[in-house]
Amino acid sequence: MKDWLKRRKVVQVVWALVTNAHVSGWLTGRIYQGPLKNFCVPGMNCYACPAAVGACPLGSLQSFFSARRPKAPFYVLGFLIMIGVVLGRFVCGWLCLFGLVQELLYRIPTPKVTVPERIDRVLRKGKYVFLVFFVVVLPLVLRDEMGVSFPYFCKWICPVGTLEGGIPLVILNRSLRPLVHGLYVWKLAILAAVTAASVLIHRPFCKYICPLGAFYGLFQKIGFLRLVREERVCTGCGACARHCAMQVDPVRDPDSAECIRCGACVRACPENALRFALAGSEERKKI
Ligand code: SF4
Ligand code: SF4
Repeated sequence: MKDWLKRRKVVQVVWALVTNAHVSGWLTGRIYQGPLKNFCVPGMNCYACPAAVGACPLGSLQSFFSARRPKAPFYVLGFLIMIGVVLGRFVCGWLCLFGLVQELLYRIPTPKVTVPERIDRVLRKGKYVFLVFFVVVLPLVLRDEMGVSFPYFCKWICPVGTLEGGIPLVILNRSLRPLVHGLYVWKLAILAAVTAASVLIHRPFCKYICPLGAFYGLFQKIGFLRLVREERVCTGCGACARHCAMQVDPVRDPDSAECIRCGACVRACPENALRFALAGSEERKKI
């Protein structure tokens, strides 16, 4: 398993290319709107990215809630629950382009910042606030006199949309350039802040802001994919917790909502006491 875990970066890059395979979009500035766009991808991948071939589940969810007559988002919710149960935050660790972007930024050699534990614990709740407030409540209730609402997380917050959609579309389409004021500048400022923070802190967007990570995290303790520790073999050395960039301790809480299933702890364990396993499988029963 350890060899397989070493290939995570390859999987991240390949998946980013597969889900952004509409290469001609980069030349024409036109968004792909073919049949594949009816399907969601598991991770954050802005619908407005000229190269995107699928839809972002978070944007799709908000579009149901912000419709003039809000509809029950059966398809998107069903998709999110299915992915949450089957993969959980494995999506964050392996299948999210913005997760990869943050990891690459963190590799820039600068002094790193450790957020004090008490502050970190409070900030991590932020992603649930973004999920409930900006993805669900505001699109449902904040409407103009015509009854029109917006996907407010996309509109006001999402740095992924700015990076993948907003910036390339404005560069490639001269007609969109008059839109570069007020809100666009605000979104650029958020992207700049998240980018700067990602150089200093490992995956700050995933830890503190991402509503999709918050949603998938809800399924970690009941989902199929589990991190399993063999108690008889574990010496309690703590190497796993020291190697976890998400500050999870796999000994205390192997199915933490913060674990992105990156496998760094599995690779770091000198006793091979950790492994990924399916819930209820033989490996799990051995503990
Ligand atoms: S690194 Fe391995 S042996 Fe050490 S505490 Fe973690 S699981 Fe146990
Ligand atoms: S607990 Fe292990 S798999 Fe989970 S985020 Fe930390 S290092 Fe990665």
